[in-house]
Amino acid sequence: MRIVLLGAPGAGKGTQCKRIVARYRLLHLSSGDILRTDRAADTELGRKAGSYMDSGALVPDKIIVEMMTEQIKKAADDGFILDGFPRTVNQAEELDKSLASIGRKIDIVLNLKIDDRLVAARMTGRRSCPQCGAVYHIENLKPDVEGVCDNDGAELVQRPDDSPEVVANRLENYHLQTEPVVDYYKNNSTVYDIDANKNADEVSTLIDDLLLTSAPKTENRGPNVSEGSIVNSK
Ligand code: ADP
Ligand code: AMP
Repeated sequence: MRIVLLGAPGAGKGTQCKRIVARYRLLHLSSGDILRTDRAADTELGRKAGSYMDSGALVPDKIIVEMMTEQIKKAADDGFILDGFPRTVNQAEELDKSLASIGRKIDIVLNLKIDDRLVAARMTGRRSCPQCGAVYHIENLKPDVEGVCDNDGAELVQRPDDSPEVVANRLENYHLQTEPVVDYYKNNSTVYDIDANKNADEVSTLIDDLLLTSAPKTENRGPNVSEGSIVNSK
């Protein structure tokens, strides 16, 4: 399975990806996580990306495409789920070209649809574990002990780009630059719209039902996946 997960910032992509990879044997490739790791390690890539990320702008396509495509090609046979990439039509085209060069393609696109009015509360309430990357929400998905990661006891942190001003920029950029990617895929692949306004467990159920019922067999199935699997795109 080669899956792209689309959706506005705060729609729940990271949350759902973690659940999907826990169930299916797939590599989770999050462009935002890769960039944040590079920033923490103060690499050249991290330094180049930093100012864009802090202001809520997209990092230029060339940087992102270089960063993502080699890893994606390496994972193409075992299966992957892409989170936060592609975010522009140009990135989507480059991804398709890169996969086509090894005779592969995206099998399925899941589009998490969320109302704009819910986005700010999702993002300003997000808290993450700096050690294991687990993501919580101060109201919707609380840790057992406030401010502390359930997995490793680390103190949870708020992402600097989850401030109200930066969130507004990110949402605007999503509508301008990333929403057209949904139409791009609607012309090229099978896209499933998923109601991401629902709570996280309900969204997981919608995704599981889709992944389990919508198709014939694929080459990669996780341990808990029964006979149904993923529909091929074209
Ligand atoms: P994205 O990766 O799309 O930016 P996240 O998965 O990080 O979004 O989710 C954003 C915030 O919203 C997090 O704090 C997360 O705990 C919370 N969240 C995720 N999905 C839901 C949901 N369906 N309902 C309510 N809160 C959610
Ligand atoms: P995310 O973790 O997906 O919310 O991404 C955090 C930030 O990283 C974004 O606001 C962008 O600045 C940058 N970023 C992540 N993925 C991409 C991408 N595919 N294209 C451009 N910028 C990206």
